[in-house]
Amino acid sequence: MTKKPSEKEEEYFARMEFERRKDAEEGKQKKMAEGERKKLKELHFMCCPKCGMQLIEVDYKKIKVDKCSHCQGVWLDAGELEAVSGLEQSGLDKFFSVFK
Ligand SMILES: [Zn+2]
Repeated sequence: MTKKPSEKEEEYFARMEFERRKDAEEGKQKKMAEGERKKLKELHFMCCPKCGMQLIEVDYKKIKVDKCSHCQGVWLDAGELEAVSGLEQSGLDKFFSVFK
């Protein structure tokens, strides 16, 4: 019988998995030349990470969300997920109606 992991355990493992993969990526990035990093940024800036098409920035209640012009994917910058989760329910409903 397998015990269902508690929410805390799942949260812990998700965070550990992210940290493990982030460390590996940071190792790769350190080896990358500054010029190469700059080139990658220019190449990918405001392009959808899933389909590569242009992202359009939508500003709603000071939360700047990037929405894909093609696949409708929605992307948040650092800190914006926290800002979204801080909205009250009515604000949250409006937020989702803007980006769906
Ligand atoms: Zn896309």
